[in-house]
Amino acid sequence: MKTSSAENPSEVKEFFTNLGLSHLFSVLKSSLQVLVQIAEQSSRTTDTLTALDSSFQKLVHTSGALYCMSDFIHLPLDLCQFLIFLVSIPWLARCDPPWIDLPHGFGLSVDGMARVGRSLGPVIDLESKVLCLHLLAALDAAPTWRTQVFLLVLQKDTAIDAKIAALKQLSLLLCSLGSFSFHLISDVLPGLLSCGEAVQEEIAKVIGSLACILTENTVIRKLKEQLSFDDPVCSSITFLCPDCDPNFQNKTGNKDESKLSAIVNAAIFTQYLQLLSPDTNAAIKCAFINSMKRMFTHIAFTADYAAHSSIVSATCFDLIEDPDFDVRMAFR
Ligand SMILES: [Zn+2]
Repeated sequence: MKTSSAENPSEVKEFFTNLGLSHLFSVLKSSLQVLVQIAEQSSRTTDTLTALDSSFQKLVHTSGALYCMSDFIHLPLDLCQFLIFLVSIPWLARCDPPWIDLPHGFGLSVDGMARVGRSLGPVIDLESKVLCLHLLAALDAAPTWRTQVFLLVLQKDTAIDAKIAALKQLSLLLCSLGSFSFHLISDVLPGLLSCGEAVQEEIAKVIGSLACILTENTVIRKLKEQLSFDDPVCSSITFLCPDCDPNFQNKTGNKDESKLSAIVNAAIFTQYLQLLSPDTNAAIKCAFINSMKRMFTHIAFTADYAAHSSIVSATCFDLIEDPDFDVRMAFR
């Protein structure tokens, strides 16, 4: 089944007006309250923990769907603040309150928020955290807090899967935060190169997107025109680059074919050429190759000739003769 809500904003508006956003907000808050009580009062059997995590995930799905609709319906400020709080719960107990610029204006005290973090944080599993990171990357407030959560996961978490989940959403976070956050690329990524092959492969995947983000021309898209019935609505949140994404449309609804692609400094990428060294795993090289189209769209004709030529020689000359068949095929 396909839905095309993005094409029918009036239907979406009508639906939410009839439902009553304030009633939905009350349901979200009281549901969270019930989860906290269960977490505090029940014996923590496997079934209880699974049910708690699954219920929390449903709340995040609902909140994410509301955020996706926010281009068509007005979300009250206290509801927006609650959404940021909800997806922050897995990390609240790991940082001291009042959590920098995380807003508190939705009817729960800082102590109450801390209690939710202590009670529910430990029962939230990786799949729910991945969902929360996706929404945290895109939401429109608390830039410092959202950055802190990503730094916490990327630099302090020992779980490789959590680091990979945060890496997957790093481009979306930077797109949302804007150019003042671009230092995170050089602050964080080089340190992660030593975290093993799975993390290296994710870095190789993400550098193409980062080239697009660095142009400052990317925009966040909240809702796909066609959404699979099985996927959560919020899974469609992503960013689009006017130069690289064929379905990008500007505000007039057209793609401007005549403009030259935006350019970024090639030197930012040279340190990641180590991911193409001869002893690197083929999967990492293939991921890097998949990133090259976006990279070369934006680093062509850069003023930094030395960086540009080292990238060209490492990618073109070395990959053509790579001993691994899959790498040579990917490069074709
Ligand atoms: Zn691009």
